Amino acid sequence: MRPTIWLTVVLLIGLASGAWPSQLKGDEQTDTRRPVLQPVSFRPLALGQIKPSGWLREQLKTQAAGLSGHLDEFWPDIKNSAWIGGNAEGWERVPYWLDGIVPLAYLLDDQALQARIRPFIDSILEHQHPDGWLGPVGDTAGHQPYDVWPLFPLFKALTQCQEATGDPRVVPALLRCARKIDQVIDQKPLYSWAKMRAADFAVSMVWLYARTGETWPLELARKAFTQRHEWRAQFDNFKFTGKTQGKFELDTHGVNTGMALKYGGIRYLLTGDARDKNAIFSMLDLLDKHHGQATGIFTCDEHLAGRSPSQGTELCTVVEAMYSLEALPAVTGDACLGDRLEKLAFNALPATFKKDMTAHQYDQQCNQVICSKESEHGYVNNGPDSNLYGLEPNFGCCTANLHQGWPKLTSSLWMKSSDGGLAAIAYAPCVVETRVQGKPVKVEVTTDYPFRDTIQIAVTVPEPMSFPIHLRQPHWTEKMEIKAPDVEFQIGKATIRANSLNMVNVEPPSGYLDFPGKWSGTKTISLSLTMPVRLYHGFNDSVAIERGPLVYALKIGTEWKKVKDNPQFADWEVLPTTPWNYALQIDREHPERSLTFEERPIGSPPFSAQAFPVIARVKGRRVADWKIAKGAAAPPPSSLVKSTAPLEELILIPYGCTDLRITEFPTLARR
Ligand SMILES: [Zn+2]
Repeated sequence: MRPTIWLTVVLLIGLASGAWPSQLKGDEQTDTRRPVLQPVSFRPLALGQIKPSGWLREQLKTQAAGLSGHLDEFWPDIKNSAWIGGNAEGWERVPYWLDGIVPLAYLLDDQALQARIRPFIDSILEHQHPDGWLGPVGDTAGHQPYDVWPLFPLFKALTQCQEATGDPRVVPALLRCARKIDQVIDQKPLYSWAKMRAADFAVSMVWLYARTGETWPLELARKAFTQRHEWRAQFDNFKFTGKTQGKFELDTHGVNTGMALKYGGIRYLLTGDARDKNAIFSMLDLLDKHHGQATGIFTCDEHLAGRSPSQGTELCTVVEAMYSLEALPAVTGDACLGDRLEKLAFNALPATFKKDMTAHQYDQQCNQVICSKESEHGYVNNGPDSNLYGLEPNFGCCTANLHQGWPKLTSSLWMKSSDGGLAAIAYAPCVVETRVQGKPVKVEVTTDYPFRDTIQIAVTVPEPMSFPIHLRQPHWTEKMEIKAPDVEFQIGKATIRANSLNMVNVEPPSGYLDFPGKWSGTKTISLSLTMPVRLYHGFNDSVAIERGPLVYALKIGTEWKKVKDNPQFADWEVLPTTPWNYALQIDREHPERSLTFEERPIGSPPFSAQAFPVIARVKGRRVADWKIAKGAAAPPPSSLVKSTAPLEELILIPYGCTDLRITEFPTLARR
């Protein structure tokens, strides 16, 4: 018998201070400048220091072969954009695309894709106006001159480009453009979209400070925050508790809300106000309570739309909420943000694409039983084609903005901890190559998580070293078992060479486990996470099945009907070919007694509608009067429901693998 050591591990909190990322590439300098920013818990790694491997690399390759890697060949708003001298849209679409395609191309080391991006970057930088402005001053689509909003995603794209390539033109160009923005917002304060999205601009100003030591970009960020929409006040006195009616303002807009999740945390860096730092948590609570869905994202079609799983959620909102959740762990150090990030990334993100990523939806629904163009829909104000899979259903913003989802998740999987170590923010297969204590360190994460429950973490160092590794414990796991027979851990005053550590009773339930290891050569940590079945409680007392970070949904047979050919790829309706109106026979107290799970081979792409890495079996009966209404499943009838239909075995698959699905089910009354 191997010795087993039972430990209560203290949550890692209050990591030593350090400036927001001093992201000098490959650099390990401690920032000794005047502390004009609040200390942070983690520092993001520069683009390229974390590369995808395993299924995640397959997913990114699928993305590159789909819309992302081809829009510049045929979509006018990229191909003929005014950003590169054309006559098409010259506002947000090229910046959006660059914000995702730049990291995609460099994470995959795809030189052909990099070569196709370069003319966009060159054109934008080489045509900087004498006054510092970057890009078109207004466009033929009627956007106002000197609207600063599209520069926010442009800055995000160019900062990543600089991290990946070291292009010496980027930082001076951004500084000159920021000076111009300073003048512009003095003359005309932030308005419309820019007013709602000031935190995204502030992220880039913090980046410029970290790169240059110039403090005026921070003052500019402070100025922008004086002109912003006050999101914290909106959520301190939250009035939008139901489906948005009648008046569609920017404060109930879904994408703005997803972006605003980072508002308090980023402002905290400048203010030090603890209420800013913690704003994300009350925002998430309120959104879950009034608009929440089993997938962890709120409804917005396109404004906040209530709890019904027949409402939609816009793709832009999914990727922007993910980006907010990627930006904030560094600020707050809270592991639960990684839990939420994984939930969005492994469920809502893959579900809303045709699985070869050649088409996407504008709106996805948790209970999505038909994707068709109907004259009457239940959306707040989105159009009848919003849940078709296509090039630009409803509106083209998501077509331009979808690209950042998978690449930025990859770039955010690990961060440096301010106590000189490394931290796993989210789990997926990847290779981290960075510097610790000035020396090259490699971390290889080998796993089929989230489809499996084990994770191998191999740490390679050039010479014996001591530094901590912080592993996120998800809130849903009851036990993390760590096996590291060759690693010595310093736990308190004891040095432990542990064959098997069973980590239990970690408080709070979602936190970081601190492993101050002694490393030499290559040492491997094996991590096992127990994944109990959980029930999510939804609209009309419905339930959804969760296990680990995955949500499970009813597999529905599909007929894909092409409705439009585009220059490349196509638009599709998806019709159900099998029944969907089931209530589950499930023990609400002990759901594990009602379900069995079965592992299957992992396909390519991993989120496939044909091959499911894991399935669940459960029993249910059809509910005859639960039907389609307004082009969607009617809201689930209130549980408990009665049915005399035959009891059937049902197959549930990961939500991210579905095209059509029921996710939030009514449950059966005992007969
Ligand atoms: Zn959109």
